[in-house]
Parts: sequence; structure tokens; C-alpha cells
Amino acid sequence: MPHRLTIHQAQGLLREKKISAVELTQAVLDRIRKVDERVGAYITLCEASALEQARKADRRIASGDPSPLAGIPVAVKDILCTRGIRTTCGSRILENFIPPYDATVIQRLEAAGVVIVGKTNMDEFAMGSSNEYSAFKLTRNPWDLSRIPGGSSGGSAAAVAADMCLGAIGSDTGGSVRQPASHCGVVGMKPTYGRVSRFGLVAFASSLDQVGPLAKCVYDNALLMKVIAGHDPKDSTSAPEPVPDYIQAFGKGLDGVTVGVPVEYRSMVGMDPEVSEAVSTAMETMERMGARCVEVSLPHTPYAVAAYYVIAPSEASSNLARYDGVKYGFRDPEAGDLAGMYRRTRSKGFGPEVQRRIIIGTYCLSAGYYDAYYRKASQVRSLIVRDFKEAFESCRLLLSPVAPTPAFPIGEKVEDPLTMYLSDVFTLSANLAGIPGISVPCGFSGQGLPIGLQIMGNHFDEAMLYRAAHQFEQATDYHLKKPPLQ
Ligand code: GLN
Repeated sequence: MPHRLTIHQAQGLLREKKISAVELTQAVLDRIRKVDERVGAYITLCEASALEQARKADRRIASGDPSPLAGIPVAVKDILCTRGIRTTCGSRILENFIPPYDATVIQRLEAAGVVIVGKTNMDEFAMGSSNEYSAFKLTRNPWDLSRIPGGSSGGSAAAVAADMCLGAIGSDTGGSVRQPASHCGVVGMKPTYGRVSRFGLVAFASSLDQVGPLAKCVYDNALLMKVIAGHDPKDSTSAPEPVPDYIQAFGKGLDGVTVGVPVEYRSMVGMDPEVSEAVSTAMETMERMGARCVEVSLPHTPYAVAAYYVIAPSEASSNLARYDGVKYGFRDPEAGDLAGMYRRTRSKGFGPEVQRRIIIGTYCLSAGYYDAYYRKASQVRSLIVRDFKEAFESCRLLLSPVAPTPAFPIGEKVEDPLTMYLSDVFTLSANLAGIPGISVPCGFSGQGLPIGLQIMGNHFDEAMLYRAAHQFEQATDYHLKKPPLQ
């Protein structure tokens, strides 16, 4: 069953010629055919181009090319532009949009020999925490098909969990890689702002957006990260920092590493006791491995959700102004005059959550309200940045849950945006501060649903996050369990 392989395992078999990239890709496509009708992870499958890429990878491997990811089938969130392949962003307004160019991340994956099997489902324009805001379909959690997979990179997380790819790419503006990774029992990394190029990533909130990998284990995640990270002259916010070899940096144990536990996270409303318990146990595991756990304070935590839900919609309202039916995307054919065309196109093209955010954002940015909302939220953001800076003076890493509860039932929060927004309490601060965060499996609820542990670190300290996550994974076996999907 080659679809069950990790990237690391597949690399070995490909190199030893025990399997070909075409066979591996076929196995993954067969798996998709078998289970995706129930899970709904993919919006677009790229069978023909995937097999073509696999044949190319086989030639590359035969010629002794050491590219680490040659022949590895990977899924990509439908928010990254793929030349000649429809990129919908989960929205009707881009339902038939075929980009004329590749995102830098896609170019780098292809240069490394990756096989792109398809584009995964997501909340429309990445706004959401459950995938229920996709304009096209529901994605179900492979661990329990009556529950959400998390969002907005829910399709990517579900595809990895259900072995419908060996790894995947998502994007994270407030938690969209980490939260679905946590709900689906896989490993998800949100890198430092500027670590990965955003060129060709459809913009949601440009000061928060980052692309990040999802994988079956920390090792695989680090392999993908190494390929996509690094400076890109096409993205002026990408950083010229060198990219370390994350795997070399895995090291041994956690001796001498100080891990901070934010006191404010303990008294969060809506915390599920099973999640708290799993995170406390994870802390003990880390201590046994030599880490020293200390209490730290992030005093402005209670204001993070409010600040995020002003800043993200404000930036979104500005970014989404480009979908006006003129240059590309959907245009309402029945529109009469220009103003009517804008109105009808945007009313029909955008779903309710996107419209809600555009209205909130436009309001927050309008003259007379800007100071009270956008400016105030930006000030709070500065205080949150300072909180983290001070915390990192007394510790190297921070530990927290990823989400307050395990995956919730489909339909539970869809009518109640405020409770949906609270799914992100633990994750969105990292985006506001621009720091990296990783989600690793750290337990299961009584009902058998995965629980994720979040490890955050200072800017560009991904290597340390990977080291801690890898060490933790070595000491546990949560990442080895598979969902009961036949
Ligand atoms: N759930 C958050 C939101 O709806 C975060 C989404 C994301 O990270 N893209 O904005």
C-alpha cells in the first residue's frame, strides 16, 4: 500500500528502485478514487499532469539526480496559482480562473521533482476554520466523517491524513495550517512571516499570510519546508535569511532547552478538558526529555482575537477589491450599467462569510472609523509583538494547545461566526507577531479525535521548532495512528 508511505520512506524505496514514481503516483490516485467521494478533500485532480511529472521524476531518479523530493506526490491548497490549472480559492468568483503563471512555491516544488496530484478544498479565500465556507463542497474529517477537518487548509490536512497524498501545502493567516493539522492528526508548520514566498499565493491579509507544509511526520514536514523556504525577489516581504538544514538540526533530546507555558492560555474560555490534559502530558514528556518548563506571561492575549478580526478583514476588504468582474473571474452576465455589474458580480460571486469580512473591513478602514478600529488594532498588535519578545527573553520555545477543542461536528458553528472565530484563539497571535508555530499530534480525545500541540518560537527559529517537535514525536506514537477509513 504505497499511499501509506511517508515521504521519507518513499524516498528510500524510489532511490533503491523498489518502486517507481509512476507506481507511487498511481497508488495515490487509486486511493483518492477510493476514498475522496467520502472525504471531499480535492477540488481539482491533476491526473494527466501528475503522471507526466512522475515519468519525468523516474527519468531523473534513473540518471542519479539526488533531488530529495523527486517523484513524491503532493497536494496543494487551491489558493496557490498553478499555471494552466484552475485555481478557485474555494470561491465562485474564481470558479473558472486559470492562472497564466505558477506561484514561487509551486515552481520550487516542481524544480525539486514533486508530483502535484491536485488542488485541495478550502474555506472561500481562506476565511474560516472548518471548510464549511467553501463554495463547492464539504470536506469531512477522515477520523469522523460527521465532523469538520478544520480550516481553512482543511482539504490539504484531510488529504494527508487519509493518505491521498504524501504531503501537502497550505496557507496560514490566523491558524489555517496548524488548526486543520491538529484536527486531522498531522504535522503542520506556519513559518515566520517572510520565510516562504507569497508570490502567487492569492492574498487574504497580506501582513499575516504565510505558506506552510502539512505532512504525516515532522521529518517529512521539514523536507517540504526546506524546498519551499527562502528569499524570492518576486516577493518584497520575503526575507533574505539563509535556510538551514532542518533535518541536520534535529539533534538529540531537549537538554537545556527552556520551554515557556503562557499562563493566560490556562484560563481560556471554551477549553476542552481533554485538550488541556493532553497538552499538560506533552509538557511532562518534554521535561522528561530534558526541557525545562517555565511559566511566562503574554498579557495582551485576551485582545488578540479582536485585533485579528479587525486587521484581517481590513486587509481582505482591500485585497478583494480586485474581483470586480472586469479583468478576470466571474462576471454577472445580466448586469446593466457598470455600478450594477460590480454589485451583482460581487453579490453573486462571493459567499456570505467573505461578504461579511468585506463589510467589516470596509467599515474599519473608512474615514472617521479608521482611528477607532484599524489604528487601535494595529496598536494592540504592537503590544502582542512586545509580549512575545519579552517572553523569548526567558524561554526558547512556547507550548500551547492548537485549538480549544477537537474537531467539532459539521454544522455546529457555521451559523455563529463569533464562536467560529474563537477556534483561532491559540493560533492567530503567532500571525500577528510574525513568529513560527508548528502543530504536532499529542493525543486523542475519548471519542478518538486527534489533539494537536502547538510549539511556537522566535522569528526564523523554525529549526528549533522542528527539533523539539521531532524529539517529541520520537517519544510518542500518536503520529503513527491512522484514521479508521477503509
Ligand atoms: N480561521 C481564521 C480566519 O477565518 C484563519 C484563517 C486562515 O488562517 N487563513 O480568518
